[in-house]
Amino acid sequence: MAHLERNGEAASSELLVATTNRGKFVEIAEAFKDLPFRLLSLRDVPGAPEVVEDGETFLANARKKAHQTARWSGKLTLADDSGLVVEALGGGPGVHSARYAGEKATDEDNRRKLLREMEGVPEGKRRAAFVCVLVMADPDGREVIAEGRVEGRIAREPRGDGGFGYDPLFLIPSLAKTTAELPLTEKNALSHRGLALKDLRGKLGGQLTPKRLP
Ligand code: IMP
Repeated sequence: MAHLERNGEAASSELLVATTNRGKFVEIAEAFKDLPFRLLSLRDVPGAPEVVEDGETFLANARKKAHQTARWSGKLTLADDSGLVVEALGGGPGVHSARYAGEKATDEDNRRKLLREMEGVPEGKRRAAFVCVLVMADPDGREVIAEGRVEGRIAREPRGDGGFGYDPLFLIPSLAKTTAELPLTEKNALSHRGLALKDLRGKLGGQLTPKRLP
């Protein structure tokens, strides 16, 4: 079993993923399915205090979510802060991706707004990237940071019904498919989150039983 040693005592082999976003959780669970962690999301441990995502960078927000949630829960915690960076929008929506069309915006609202903002933007100027920063933190404040990025283009209309968020609008030019047209394992093999999860596993030294975080 995987253990995180705290004060010389083996803590649980649970890993709390600090999100209520089902899309993110499903992708992380798939990528970690061979690890001996029982993965929980914030839907499994209700009552977590809300983390105000007011950082100016993905890293600042991911660190805040990871440390606050690890301290509150007493569990090894993984936070993902991610978003879409569009060249023609000066790097937006970036850290504001989840709330692009407003505080209570749905994925559909956000996609509509993105298409509106990109109206009339020519093919050569539709470059974009998905970025993901992961922070794994333990309740004592130790952390491991990992990152991933995938380059693509903003499509002119939605395609595919997989994934979540902006996936139906994010084209991978070499595949001529959006990330919503890829099965989960294929999306994970090339996506920002998949690459960040791979980076994280590398940084954990390939150990399935991290004694403690650095
Ligand atoms: P966060 O919860 O603040 O990290 O917000 C992440 C937001 O970025 C999501 O709500 C989506 O809108 C967008 N996003 C992040 N990763 C993906 C992805 O893999 N596919 C599509 N949209 C994503």
